[in-house]
Amino acid sequence: MAVPLLDLKGQYASIKGEIDAAIAGVAESQYFINGPQLKAFQEEAQAFLGASHAIGCASGSDALMLALWALGIGPGDEVITTPFTFFATAGAISRLGATPVFVDIEPGTFNIDPDGIEAAIGPKTVGILPVHLYGVSADMDRIGAIAKKHDLFVVEDAAQSIGATWNGAQTGTMGDAGCFSFFPSKNLGAWGDGGMVTSMNAELASTVSKLAKHGNFPRKYMHQMVGCNSRLDALQAAILRVKLGHLADWCEARRARAATYKALVADRGLADRVTFQEVPDPAVPVYHQCVVRVPSRDDVAAFFKERGVGHAVYYPLCLHLQECYAPLEYAVGSMPVAEQATEEVLALPIYPELTEAQQAEVIDTLAEALG
Ligand SMILES: *Cc1c(COP(=O)(O)O)cnc(C)c1O
Repeated sequence: MAVPLLDLKGQYASIKGEIDAAIAGVAESQYFINGPQLKAFQEEAQAFLGASHAIGCASGSDALMLALWALGIGPGDEVITTPFTFFATAGAISRLGATPVFVDIEPGTFNIDPDGIEAAIGPKTVGILPVHLYGVSADMDRIGAIAKKHDLFVVEDAAQSIGATWNGAQTGTMGDAGCFSFFPSKNLGAWGDGGMVTSMNAELASTVSKLAKHGNFPRKYMHQMVGCNSRLDALQAAILRVKLGHLADWCEARRARAATYKALVADRGLADRVTFQEVPDPAVPVYHQCVVRVPSRDDVAAFFKERGVGHAVYYPLCLHLQECYAPLEYAVGSMPVAEQATEEVLALPIYPELTEAQQAEVIDTLAEALG
């Protein structure tokens, strides 16, 4: 029995009536850009997160770029971030002409290590861009304190962490801005690309919103600044509204699946060889991915493939070692914790529709792979 890494068809089947009605509503309205669906989604997302402002945009990558753009970063500026993330995190910094400065990660959480941040701060540093990797919040107490001390902005990459909290606060609401992705495989996934920027700061939110509309202000065809066109369309907003109504239950179901994996790993006597991502006390995770460290990861992955068991490696190469960042001259070995993680991590299938039988099959496969 094959176990897929993700089962979006199963999710659709569980909410088909609601989704089909939402799509039909947009079809009837023929209102595709801006309009009531976008407005309602932004309000509902704001309420869900406890954010003061939410602005839909075309993707998570654009959300990061718009937030950093609104904060005014450009050539000569440095932004501190993690080397162990999806490329978009650092790419957004570079696209604006600024320079990413990488700081190694914590071995347990895989998130940026606050201990390394202060040493990386220099005269050109303007901000910190933490990622809440796999749906576990970075240490926002320490990151916030460092930012405050050095007068730096914090932009949160919450692309994988919608619904996750730190000391009860939603990820994406603790920094100057939060950036979300609605890529189909994310925990809140659209039927195409989509993203959102949140902020507690009215002025910053207003700049983000203007930048996403070609700097349009105060009237149509009047342009206060040069921006771009980055929109979350009505069809996506209507679909996301339906899914947002289920998100809290889905987060709970993901946590339950992760707990089941942990119990199965212990039960099969694998706990000394299979290490789960650490979840610090103040964090409530959402398991966008359920990632374990395993010995001989590539052999384990090959065995999973042979058995038709879904798995993935997020991420196989650190950002500081990417070809495009060769000019930054980071050496192999300069971020040892992140580099080791690229060789040991394995993501297991996790989604609300995953059954206990499937989970047992995943862990039995893992046990067999490890001998
Ligand atoms: C998915 C993702 C993004 C980018 O989102 P897109 O919507 O695909 O552009 C950015 N950062 C992280 C950590 C992500 O996982």
